[in-house]
Amino acid sequence: MVSRVIPVEPFDLVVFGATGDLARRKILPALYRRMQAGQVPAEARVIGAARAGQTRDDFRAFAAAALADFVPAARRDAAGVAAFLDRLDYVALDATGAAGWDDLAALMRPGVVRAFYFSVAPALFGAIAERLHARGIADPGSRIVVEKPFGHDLTSARALNATLARHFDEGQIYRIDHYLGKETVQNLMAVRFGNILFEPLWNARHVDHVQITVAETVGVGGRGAYYDRAGAMRDMVQNHLMQLLCLIAMEPPWHFDPAAVRDEKLKVIRALAPVPAADIVRGQYAATGGEPGYAEDAGNPDSTTESFVALKVQVRNWRWQGTPFYLRTGKRLRARTSEIAVIFRDPPHSIFDQGGLRQNELVIRLQPNEGINLKVMIKEPGPGGMRLVQVPLDMSFAEALGPEGADMPDAYERLIMDVIRGNQTLFMRGDEVEAAWAWTDPIIAGWEARGDRPQPYDAGSSGPEDALALMHRDGRKWREIRE
Ligand code: NAP
Repeated sequence: MVSRVIPVEPFDLVVFGATGDLARRKILPALYRRMQAGQVPAEARVIGAARAGQTRDDFRAFAAAALADFVPAARRDAAGVAAFLDRLDYVALDATGAAGWDDLAALMRPGVVRAFYFSVAPALFGAIAERLHARGIADPGSRIVVEKPFGHDLTSARALNATLARHFDEGQIYRIDHYLGKETVQNLMAVRFGNILFEPLWNARHVDHVQITVAETVGVGGRGAYYDRAGAMRDMVQNHLMQLLCLIAMEPPWHFDPAAVRDEKLKVIRALAPVPAADIVRGQYAATGGEPGYAEDAGNPDSTTESFVALKVQVRNWRWQGTPFYLRTGKRLRARTSEIAVIFRDPPHSIFDQGGLRQNELVIRLQPNEGINLKVMIKEPGPGGMRLVQVPLDMSFAEALGPEGADMPDAYERLIMDVIRGNQTLFMRGDEVEAAWAWTDPIIAGWEARGDRPQPYDAGSSGPEDALALMHRDGRKWREIRE
């Protein structure tokens, strides 16, 4: 299967924070790979900006090292790398100062798409937006890209939205949630709305419950200071898991366009019920087998921040009344895996003598080995009566799509190209982010007011015991966390 690559328009992409970790690991490699795929036209340019007083050649050397580290050797060729580096420029500037901005203004070309990637701390967003506007660097067709975290709570998210809105229309603002750029996440929509098969069953009448799991094996490592102020609820649930929940629970949008898709997601977030304390489990990984625990990793012995959270969530609408969504995410768990499992109800009546027919399950794996797995009952082969057995109909995208399936673009590749195309469907709208915080804030305020401490769990486990109990008390069971 050969995918079509449609080149985008020529662009000037300015990356503020171009010497940082995100630029190095994600943005520069993604741009290179899109260029290699033939999607970036020869006239496109990438202008790095940061305070470091370096030359264009220094920046090119930095970018060359980033590609060497983060693009697999099989995907790099010397001529391609040289052509990519040739498109890079650099301006030294301070987001909060005056120097350097005229140099940037002088570099911008008329008649090409202008995009500005704010790969810097959110505290600098306002200063950059203001200068882009005041110096006439941004035009009405310009786009700005902002990274997570978008706020720390509703108040700060509102303030950030208001700051950006002073200089840019909502139609110019691209809030990244890189989960939405993952191929499989988009496949959620394709599976639901591109097939007749699932939608008639996609409701409380037929779905017993939904499980969304995002498990990591790494600890907080070098991000300890940031993470300790956030925790799993702010770092993962408010954004990534919430987006997955929206795509599973939303009504069919009338059309696959930014306004229609985001309107439907917003309705889901607004329909989320407040979560009672009994439906929340927080955990913190303990020192295990000589490895440090969370408190040590975070450099805060008294930390009450959660590195794991599990929640039972209710969507208050006709479609989902009575079907809970169980969400869990955590660090230092047994395996690195992200999946959504839709567990269907039992058949209403069994014609077979054998009791305990297993439920149908539709599992959408986001990583690793992206694909879809549908569990169905069949007859156990062989003579000797009618015994049923559950088997998986397993489709790995890598196998089904051939070589291209094994080499799917990174989320950042798609998202940056969507920015250049001016397509906001896979980006979060301001009201969506605020609604997500409006639901998250009381949950966090609740455990803070109660003085709850997270339960310790062993590294390499499935999380704290109470997370298992959260399911057991409803007569249900989490799927095993495994790769
Ligand atoms: P980082 O490694 O600390 O890099 C920050 C960048 O900003 C550097 O290039 C730095 O260069 C520049 N900078 C700092 N102060 C500046 C100023 N006053 N004026 C101009 N440039 C300035 O941070 P990062 O990890 O790349 O993260 C960037 C943003 O992406 C943050 O908002 C972060 O939350 C978000 N994010 C990062 C990741 C990730 O994987 N790294 C993932 C998701 C979201 P100079 O010091 O030379 O100025």
